[in-house]
Amino acid sequence: GLPELPARPLAMRRHSRRIQVGSVAVGGDAPVSVQSMTTTRTSDIGATLQQIAELTASGCQIVRVACPTQDDADALATIARKSQIPVIADIHFQPKYVFAAIDAGCAAVRVNPGNIKQFDDKVKEIARAANDAGTPIRIGVNAGSLDARLLKKYGKATPEALVESALWEASLFEEHGFWDIKISVKHNDPVVMVNAYRQLAARCDYPLHLGVTEAGPAFQGTIKSAVAFGALLSEGIGDTIRVSLSAPPAEEVKVGLQILESLNLKQRRLEIVSCPSCGRAQVDVYKLADQVSAGLEGMEVPLRVAVMGCVVNGPGEAREADLGVASGNGKGQIFVKGEIIKTVPESKIVETLVEEALKIAEDMDDA
Ligand code: SF4
Repeated sequence: GLPELPARPLAMRRHSRRIQVGSVAVGGDAPVSVQSMTTTRTSDIGATLQQIAELTASGCQIVRVACPTQDDADALATIARKSQIPVIADIHFQPKYVFAAIDAGCAAVRVNPGNIKQFDDKVKEIARAANDAGTPIRIGVNAGSLDARLLKKYGKATPEALVESALWEASLFEEHGFWDIKISVKHNDPVVMVNAYRQLAARCDYPLHLGVTEAGPAFQGTIKSAVAFGALLSEGIGDTIRVSLSAPPAEEVKVGLQILESLNLKQRRLEIVSCPSCGRAQVDVYKLADQVSAGLEGMEVPLRVAVMGCVVNGPGEAREADLGVASGNGKGQIFVKGEIIKTVPESKIVETLVEEALKIAEDMDDA
């Protein structure tokens, strides 16, 4: 086949100021972080902490909780204290909950300026309280809740409208000497979203929280987010990401991590290099790849495992990987670090790969 192209590095990271969301730095040269949002009633402290624990286990680095009622606001202090990862309170409509969230020790507060009534009057007080507590603010502009004035000016939520809204809200804080801000300008259309973030990136140095809002059910939302984040991150734009899916939040984290791993913005963990199969395949590649994935699930060490259907590309790819199998004639040639270590019957391929993977993982841990 053709020689492999050398991996080109991604664009230089956009210069952004660095803010601190609890223990997680966002912006500057901090690694791009993955966040999600709980789906429980925040006032149900037990259920919310349980979900946060699950999100933490899945690799989530920052979690956001909604705060629509006083009961939710009352729960924030306990949740912020007991969560393993920084908690951001998500506030719409009610400035008083912003103060409650800051007092509760939340790592940051997200406000949706288009939704906060009399926000202008409250900005000074919010800036002072946030500044005193060292609590950053995310200005979260959303196509669906764009300021009425801008909606009228632009006719709809164009990239220009989203950016103007965000920069205007930021300027209200800046007037009071507050710059501890990150910004999002979300839209459900990846093309509009990408253009909005590009424009915003050129016009400020705030760290940016990427999101395609209301991206849809898992399959569609995954593709939309991957395409949009991929475009922006490969241009160096984006400091923290949230994938929005109509699916459990741990799924969002899985997708987010995979996007960062695909762009080499995060150390790859288990990677299955499996062929699409074709008329030459001598084994059921889909089934074998699924079985190998399942057998190796949860392995934390970076490992590239090749699962190839025949001996055409099989040995080549299997040799490039840490571990691999090339199938043929009802047998599998097992490769470790480029060497054929044994040939096993088809029925033993999965268990042999899992065995060898565990050995490699042990060696890596010892190293
Ligand atoms: Fe087809 Fe073999 Fe390539 Fe798989 S490795 S796609 S079976 S030629």
